[in-house]
This record gives sequence, C-alpha cells and structure tokens, in this order.
Amino acid sequence: MATVHAPELLIVMSGTATPEEVEHVVARLEEAGAQAHVTPGKQATVIGAIGEREQIAALPLEGYAGVEQVLPILKPYKLVSREISPDPTVIEVRGRRIGDGYFGFIAGPCTVEYREQTLETARAVNAEGVTMLRGGAFKPRTSPYTFQGLGLEGLKILVEAREETGLPLVTELMDPRHVDAVVDAADVIQIGARNMQNFSLLSEVGRARKPVLLKRGISASIEELLMAAEYVVREGNSQVILCERGIKTFETATRFTLDIGAIPVLKQETHLPVIVDPSHAAGRRDLVLPLARAAVAAGADGIIVEVHPEPEHALCDAAQQIPVRDFPHFADEIRALASLMGRVIG
Ligand code: PEP
Ligand code: MN
Repeated sequence: MATVHAPELLIVMSGTATPEEVEHVVARLEEAGAQAHVTPGKQATVIGAIGEREQIAALPLEGYAGVEQVLPILKPYKLVSREISPDPTVIEVRGRRIGDGYFGFIAGPCTVEYREQTLETARAVNAEGVTMLRGGAFKPRTSPYTFQGLGLEGLKILVEAREETGLPLVTELMDPRHVDAVVDAADVIQIGARNMQNFSLLSEVGRARKPVLLKRGISASIEELLMAAEYVVREGNSQVILCERGIKTFETATRFTLDIGAIPVLKQETHLPVIVDPSHAAGRRDLVLPLARAAVAAGADGIIVEVHPEPEHALCDAAQQIPVRDFPHFADEIRALASLMGRVIG
C-alpha cells in the first residue's frame, strides 16, 4: 500500500503543558518515523503529526503528559487549515505586516516598463502610505506577441525603487530557472493565477525562505487554492498570502468575477492571510475602488492594486490601472474603510 505522507492527526496540548511535554510528544512521533509540525497557539500548542497512519496510530498519544486531545484532520488540506492553527498567521516583511488585524496595502505598476515609470509610481504610492510595492518583471501574457516584461532588467529597477522608498517588493516568478534571481530581489514572491497549479513551481518556492503571494487560478475552486498553498507549506515555507483576483464566469461586464464570498470562506478555512486584487478582477479602473471597498468590508487582510503614471500608454493592462494622480483619493477611501473595519495598515 502506498504511504501517504499527510498529517493525519492533530495533537492538542493542554494550556498548561510544559515545553518538555511538547518535546516529548515530538520525540515519540519522530521515533515512529513521523514528522511533527508544532504550532504554538495563544491558548494551546497544537502538533500536527505527519507520517504513516499505522505508525502514528500505534503510539499511545492520549496517554502522554500534557496531551489534551487527539483529533483526526478531516480536511484534504492539512497544514494550511484552521484546524492545525486556530490563530491567524501574520506575515512580516521588512517590518510591514499582513494578517490578524494588519492590513497589507500593496500598489504599483502592473509591469515594470521603464525606470522612470516605475520610480514615479513607487514614489507616489509610498507618499500615500502603502505597505509594499508591486510590479511585474516577468509577465504571463495571453499573447506571445505582446510585451513580455523586462525580465532581469526589470528586477533591477524594482530593487532601485525599494532602495529609494524602503517599500518591500512583490514580484512574480514564472519560471523555476529564475528562482534565484527573483528570490534574491523580491521580498514577496508572487505566483500568478496561471501558475497556481504549477506544482513543481509551488514546491520550489516552498523551499525558498521568502513569503509567497499565491493568486487564485482563473478557474480554480477555493479548495484547489488551498491545496496549492499546501504544496508550498509542506516544503517548510509557511509564509503564504492567498489572493482572490476574480474567476471566470459567464459574466462579461467585468474582466473576471470577483468572488467576494471566497474571502469569508477562506478566513474560516485557513489561518493564512487573504488579500484581494480588485484590478485584475475588474479589468476597468472605474470599478477598482468599489471592488476594493467590498473586499475590505468582507474582511480581507489587504489589497493589491495596479497604478501607472499614464495608464492610457501602459504596455499591459491599460484599462484597469489607476492613474497616479487619482491614487491619493483611492488611498484615502481605503484607509478610512480599513480603519472602520478595525484594521491597522501594516
Ligand atoms: C499580476 O498581478 O501581475 C497578474 C498577472 O495577475 P494574475 O496572475 O492574477 O492574472
Ligand atoms: Mn496586470
């Protein structure tokens, strides 16, 4: 029979369990050939046991000192589930935080086109107190005949923008051959909607020591998104931010249909932070603010939006980028609503 290395059990320690008691359970699991994922919680420490079911089942876990309860993990996703970590994950990047009340406000151009375009946008969004700068150097374009991004040159421009503004960088990785370059330059590695189920790429970033922004696939269910995140986390990288960016439906008035319901569902199912990209969902700049407002009101932990000095001349996603001159108003609205929702812009 094939061995399924999935965490089958949750071992909930009592609130008064000592570090030695936790260590003892971990040691017994490891002796039995299992891995133990220890999640210290506000109320109690939870240990997820990963390994062969029979070996784990043979351990008298309930009898060990400090163990309160042993429960099966019923969901197909394990490490990302709320069951394993009832406390929300907070992701910290260069002193900026996302999750558990901290709101990530990420803005910047769709694509790095040229130095001044990126620097001007970075300065403008920084002046409005955003927490991170976005910008694509490697672009997943539908047509092979359109601008594909500046690649490594684009990464250099982004690094310059970070040096000037201090804003952490979010940029997309598309090809495992660029892992080193992107991991080196980026503070958050974006995996785009089109690569959400590129499982080898997911495992690759799971081995990177940088947070990952994982965007929901265009036709992916919420469960598939969570399973994709599981690929990253099981490699040891638990710093994953999920992003709802609209899905394909029969509706054509907007570029995609923003699945607002996904926000509260994800927040119930996972401890990972959930942000929203209203720009790609809308596909038109007049709808970006109302969709962003809806996202904040529905409990999102952040938003990621596209901004450009002259969107009418943008080489990619011209119709949806917010002009730099309109961004102060946009940021005002977001700040007001985030504060109404009890969020602190991280
Ligand atoms: C992007 O954010 O640059 C992007 C291409 O988005 P998505 O992968 O959601 O289409
Ligand atoms: Mn774009």
